[in-house]
Amino acid sequence: MRNHYDYVLISGDFANIQPNQEGGVSQEEEQKAEQEIADILEQIEKIVDVPIFYIPGNHDPNSLLLPADKRSNLTYNSNNIHNDWTELRPNLALVALGGSTRSDFQKYGSLEQSEIYFPYPYSTDEQFKKDLDGLMEQESMPRNILLMTHDGPRGSSTAQDKTTFLDTGIIHFGSPYLAKLLQQNQGKIICNLHGHCHEGAALDKMKNIRIVNPGSLKHGEFGELKLKENPDGSWRVACFNKHYLN
Ligand SMILES: [Zn+2]
Repeated sequence: MRNHYDYVLISGDFANIQPNQEGGVSQEEEQKAEQEIADILEQIEKIVDVPIFYIPGNHDPNSLLLPADKRSNLTYNSNNIHNDWTELRPNLALVALGGSTRSDFQKYGSLEQSEIYFPYPYSTDEQFKKDLDGLMEQESMPRNILLMTHDGPRGSSTAQDKTTFLDTGIIHFGSPYLAKLLQQNQGKIICNLHGHCHEGAALDKMKNIRIVNPGSLKHGEFGELKLKENPDGSWRVACFNKHYLN
């Protein structure tokens, strides 16, 4: 990776633990996962020496979901930005929220959907909405937002798995409220970058907002996102490239 990058953004699921399982995860398992995450971040820092902003997914230790003042940085150049935001450039904020909401399986030819993968930590879309609204309603938020979430917006092809049950149906990932929020924030949110659904499409749009799912680095997939400043000081997505390492 010889290109110049300003930031590395990681949208969660570094580890593969199941915090939503009955009885939770042991302290030992949590610590092991934290160490694995620190190792991954250190490896990335060796490749690109720029600030890393990351959020936890639903398979990461609960400690990553703690409030900002109660969690510690795992490496020197990485920042857990869950439920928080930062100004990247004048008029441009990175706003971020980790964790997942529920996913549903829909059989082809049927309108019915049934819950398939259990969410963490947002057991309802209403809980996800509360955190997302809390973030978006903060004063002094810059004019444009790059929104990084672990879960995607419901209905976007980036949050749909059409391959796991190829012959029988489709898995709908994503938050219905996030889809609504994007529709209500045209011109403000310029891009929603998310993960969670490894089999989703790389790129979609909701009205004028680009939805980007770069794929899973574990499966050799990542993306490059280029944002450009317009003459009036606002920002736009200039380019997205998806890469396959193998
Ligand atoms: Zn996930």
